Amino acid sequence: MDNTVRRHKYLLTEDQMPTTWYNLVANLPTPPPPPLHPGTRQPVGPQDLAPLFPMALIEQEVSTQRYIDIPGGVLDVYRLWRPSPLYRAHNLERALGTPARIYYKYEGVSPAGSHKTNTSVPQAWYNKLEGTTRLTTETGAGQWGTALSFACALYDLECEVWQVGASYDSKPYRRLMIETFGAKVHRSPSALTAVGRKLAEDPKNLSGSLGIAISEAVEVAAQDEKTRYALGSVLNHVLLHQTIIGEEALLQMAMAGDTPTHLIGCTGGGSNFAGLSFPFLREKLAGRISPRIIAAEPVSCPTLTRGVYAYDYGDTAGMTPLMKMHTLGHDFIPAPIHSGGLRYHGMAPLISHVYAEGMMEALAVPQTECFAAATLFARTEGIVPAPEPTHALALAIREAMKARDTGEETVILTALCGHGHFDLAAYDAYLGGRMVDENFDDARLNESLRSVPTVDA
Ligand SMILES: *Cc1c(COP(=O)(O)O)cnc(C)c1O
Repeated sequence: MDNTVRRHKYLLTEDQMPTTWYNLVANLPTPPPPPLHPGTRQPVGPQDLAPLFPMALIEQEVSTQRYIDIPGGVLDVYRLWRPSPLYRAHNLERALGTPARIYYKYEGVSPAGSHKTNTSVPQAWYNKLEGTTRLTTETGAGQWGTALSFACALYDLECEVWQVGASYDSKPYRRLMIETFGAKVHRSPSALTAVGRKLAEDPKNLSGSLGIAISEAVEVAAQDEKTRYALGSVLNHVLLHQTIIGEEALLQMAMAGDTPTHLIGCTGGGSNFAGLSFPFLREKLAGRISPRIIAAEPVSCPTLTRGVYAYDYGDTAGMTPLMKMHTLGHDFIPAPIHSGGLRYHGMAPLISHVYAEGMMEALAVPQTECFAAATLFARTEGIVPAPEPTHALALAIREAMKARDTGEETVILTALCGHGHFDLAAYDAYLGGRMVDENFDDARLNESLRSVPTVDA
């Protein structure tokens, strides 16, 4: 046995926790294209969004201010689990025989077991301040529903969650956790909404999708003045709230005396990836560091790598504003892969813009490679990752193996955005040899791209 003492974790004190969120828009050479009203196709104004979101969040959505203060009440709740730890993966490095140094920022310590509470808490907070009594939302794998249910419990708000049918059926424990925090959960598509009843007429929609669940939650929120809608990813204000991850990680990498050459995160709607990478991108744009910034997505939902960059709806029914983003088409129904959180047809407009401007890269990874990486990670680092960040781990391992072959100095920082304690059915499929890699061919891609609307520039 090698008994060398190694430093595994870098912890900040509560006093060192950052007190502002970082808004990347303030530092971009060109602003991202604005969202358009689905009816008029003109840029949306604050009044268009007011039925769905409280004004404070709408202001953050369009803000160009570089730093935004985190309210004291939100900081207070963050302190339940923040600052989150940064780990050096010595055991994984040794197992790989790589000279690369691998760090991971772990968000699984939150009450929901993922990064989603970083935004559910402020979203519930601002809604409470503005008189909302009920929030509606969608959830895929269930992490966002859990996070919002927890935040609503804190502020005594009602919470109703439309859960993607395939996840509702395969992840009963997630639903029970959401219910334990006090929310109501509906299997989507549901009979409770006009859009759910309509979409359920087509058998291909019965397993549900995030796009369908969003349509249902938006329909219910739009009908009641005291009810608003909350989104767990994609929007600028959500990415903003997640930047506390990267701000902490910058301080922790400094504690470790190391500078990343690679930042790797998984992208569903893009929020955890943005949360980790945007503060580092600020430093990169300022010329202080120069890491490659790489998004990892599933082969079966390859939004950045095979989607088109175009205006599309955020939901299946076309009720949301049109957003310029990488999209597979808003009626895309992904194969029921295990990584529920990465099955969204679109990408955050801010990430899409950054990607289109060449400031980051993206790669698609097959799920069996992800779970091979995940089991190695569990056996060396002691954490069973959520299926989503296994995509980032797989790419981190690819880069670490390259470093072994080339000897090139490689320092990887990856976002381990959640644990997989409720995703053990996926591990069961992998360990039992029943997990297959979906082949997403051009014919299917082209069919789903047909739903992307034509919008004149
Ligand atoms: C929701 C979720 C994702 C996908 O959403 P992003 O906005 O891309 O972060 C990924 N991982 C986990 C653990 C999630 O809960």
